Amino acid sequence: MTDVEHICRVCGYDYGGYSIREDGAGNHDICDCCGVTFGYEDNLLEGVRDFRAHWVGTDFAWADASIKPRGWDVNEQMRNIPSRWC
Ligand SMILES: [Zn+2]
Repeated sequence: MTDVEHICRVCGYDYGGYSIREDGAGNHDICDCCGVTFGYEDNLLEGVRDFRAHWVGTDFAWADASIKPRGWDVNEQMRNIPSRWC
């Protein structure tokens, strides 16, 4: 069985049916929200936390601001983050 992830470990952005990681290997896309590269900075918990701290420091800047939803709620989104990556 293939282990698929569709939620960013760093920011909790939900890619829905689009797989960003299979069997632990990221697809190397850049998160539209936090800007992490899947399978690069986010492989280990320490890296996830480091990148998240960097992103918090940017005041939650979107890598692609053009798709930032109107009324976006960072706290609501971050509740998607699986507990093992918090
Ligand atoms: Zn992200």
